[in-house]
Amino acid sequence: MRLFLCCVCGLLFCLPEAAAARQLPVHELNYFQAYETQVDGQDAWRIEIGINRPDVAYTLREKTFLRKVLVLDLPNTVRGKLATQIAQKSAFVSSVQINELEARHTQVRVQLTQAGADCAYQVTVLDPDRRARKPYRLAIDIFKKPQAAPAENVEGVAGHALVLDAGHGGSDTGAVGPDGITEASVTLAVTRDVRDILQQSGARVVMTRDADVDVYGPYASDRQELQARVNVGAYSPGAELFVSIHCNAFSNPGAHGMETYYYPKTEADERLATLLNEELAAAGGLFNRGVKQANFYVMKHSAMPASLIELGFITNPEEEALLASEGYQKKLALAVARGIGRFFSE
Ligand SMILES: [Zn+2]
Repeated sequence: MRLFLCCVCGLLFCLPEAAAARQLPVHELNYFQAYETQVDGQDAWRIEIGINRPDVAYTLREKTFLRKVLVLDLPNTVRGKLATQIAQKSAFVSSVQINELEARHTQVRVQLTQAGADCAYQVTVLDPDRRARKPYRLAIDIFKKPQAAPAENVEGVAGHALVLDAGHGGSDTGAVGPDGITEASVTLAVTRDVRDILQQSGARVVMTRDADVDVYGPYASDRQELQARVNVGAYSPGAELFVSIHCNAFSNPGAHGMETYYYPKTEADERLATLLNEELAAAGGLFNRGVKQANFYVMKHSAMPASLIELGFITNPEEEALLASEGYQKKLALAVARGIGRFFSE
C-alpha cells in the first residue's frame, strides 16, 4: 500500500500498487460500527466500515457547508446492506451518510459537530478480528488535535538581566554517562531552554556559551576556562546573577539526585540556590540532595549572586536517560526559570 499526497489538490490518496494496472474485484461495504476509543492517548470517535480485502483505494477530503464534513470517496465499492444515514452519539460526529454516487463508487460523508470542526482525523485499514467477528475494515478516527505545549512564561523576570553558564563544552565533554551522553550536551540543551523561557518572559540573558565550544579555548587550564566564564558575567553590564548548570558524576552508578550550590559572598547567594533547589525539587521528582555550600570557582569569583546546579547524576543510568530526554530537559529548564523569577520578585 502506498500513500500519496496530491500536490495539485492536497488530497490524500491511498492506492494499492496494482490498482492502476488492473481492475480489482469490487468491495462490498459489509459492516459498520462506531464507538469511543483512545488514539495515541486522545479520546477519539472511531468509525469502522467493513471491506472485503485490505487493498482498498480511497481519497479523504474535508468540505465545509454549514458544518465541516469529511468526505471519503471509495472507488470500486458498492454500499451493500449498510444504511444510508447513521446517527452518531458522539461529541465530534453527528451522523454518517453512505451513498453510492455512481456504479461502483461509494462516498462516505462524516458530518462533524461544532466541537468536531477543530478535530484531527486519520484513516487506517484494520485487519480482521476473528474473535470479534469483524472483517477487514477502514477505520476513520476523529480526535481532538493534540494540544500544542503552552507558551512557557515565568513571572518576575521582565526587565532583569542575568548570565547563564552551560557547564563544560568543546574540548571538555564533562562527565559521560554509561550510554555515552555527555554532560556538556545536557547542560547546553537545558541552558538554551532556560534562556528561551526567560527571554520570552522579558529578561535579558547572556550565555557564556551557546554552542559546543570552550569559552576560553580548547585544552586551556581549568582556571583559564572558568575565569573566562566569570568574565562573561563581569563584562555584561547590568547582569544581576550568574547561574551555572552542570550534571553530577560519581564512580558508584547508584549515586543519584539533584542539588544546588552557593558560595556565601553576598547576602543573596544562598537565597538564589535555595529558590532554584525548591523549584527543581517541585518539578523534577529526583531525590533532593539539598542546598550546599562550596567554593566552586565560578560562584566564588563572580561578583554577583551565583549558584551552581547539579541537575542529576549522568553516571546513574536512569538519571542519564532522563537528562538526555527533551521533555525532562524542558521541565528542568522551566524550574530553573521559575527559581530565577522568584529570586527577582520575592
Ligand atoms: Zn560539571
